[in-house]
Amino acid sequence: MKNPIHNTKKEKVLTGDRATGQLHLGHFVGSLQQRVKLQHEHEQTILVADLQGLTDNGHNPHKVSSNILNVVADYLAVGIDPSKTTICLQSAIPALSELTMYYSNLVSVARLQRNPTVKNEIASKSFGSSIPTGFLTYPISQAADITAFKGTLIPVGDDQLPMIEQTNEIVRKLNHIAQDDILVECRPLLSKVPRLPSSDGKSKMSKSMGNCILLSSSEKDISKAVKSMYTDPKHLNVEDPGQISGNVVFTYLDAFHSDPSYINDLKARYQKGGLGDGTTKRILEECLQDLLKPLRERREIFISDKAQLIDILRIGSQKSQEESNQVLNNVKRAFGLNLFNL
Ligand code: ATP
Ligand code: MG
Repeated sequence: MKNPIHNTKKEKVLTGDRATGQLHLGHFVGSLQQRVKLQHEHEQTILVADLQGLTDNGHNPHKVSSNILNVVADYLAVGIDPSKTTICLQSAIPALSELTMYYSNLVSVARLQRNPTVKNEIASKSFGSSIPTGFLTYPISQAADITAFKGTLIPVGDDQLPMIEQTNEIVRKLNHIAQDDILVECRPLLSKVPRLPSSDGKSKMSKSMGNCILLSSSEKDISKAVKSMYTDPKHLNVEDPGQISGNVVFTYLDAFHSDPSYINDLKARYQKGGLGDGTTKRILEECLQDLLKPLRERREIFISDKAQLIDILRIGSQKSQEESNQVLNNVKRAFGLNLFNL
């Protein structure tokens, strides 16, 4: 029989978002909804990853600096509560950069190049032969983020699975060097929608690709995005049987509609023939407008009080500095570089 005490034990939840733009529907279903629930049961830290945002924006740092508070406002709008969740800023926590430096000695360039997410991103960002060093090594910096807060449960989209695997490799290597379990392994928590596609169905909805329905999108932009959504290109007439697989409207209805049995009936009618894309899009649009209107309104209030957002980040970052310095000291000791016994 499972130990009931073990089952109720609090986990340390750690996640983050790059400060490369406002948060979108992919974040909402991929991770934010889970974070809102987890904050009631566990200890949670969320990191606004501004340094990681710089790894492909070194030439355009304004893009990162101008989005830090946008991301915090999005958190508050979806219901992340700073009295329950620590919200902190990556660049304000020096231990994270130091840990990255130590860990980078345990990871080969070949291993980084084999990371499938990094590989895909390098190809899609057309760096050519000028891949920024920080970009290639960002999985190491993510390992620093996760381990610095002793994160055990990581609610993420599926593009982050290779990062978690790499983090655990670093944890095992370091614990072997230390001959002690000074770092803890983590595991991912995927949602029912681990990768929300963009409206054209061609790629993951992603801030950097500019293919997003934002949590702050206007009624008009939501309507436009739904109307242009990819469906079944062979479904030319209403009476034709339509295909569900690859049909982005149904992917979104599965992700966002509150009544799965209604959506199943809709799918059956669509497959049989007699249901037009105009109708399915109208149903989806109504559902997204209902979801996003209150979020947009809440967000407008939060973004208008920048001082409050900065305070939340400052308080969270101070707390995080203390936590992460302890881990850094243990790592330095493992490498024998604690001459001053700090
Ligand atoms: P960028 O294009 O700058 O990388 P992004 O849109 O990919 O931005 P991130 O900040 O990289 O967003 O990701 C933050 C978290 O949100 C990660 O856990 C990631 O897996 C998740 N996430 C991002 N996009 C999606 C998506 N389309 N579907 C599900 N989860 C997502
Ligand atoms: Mg990303």
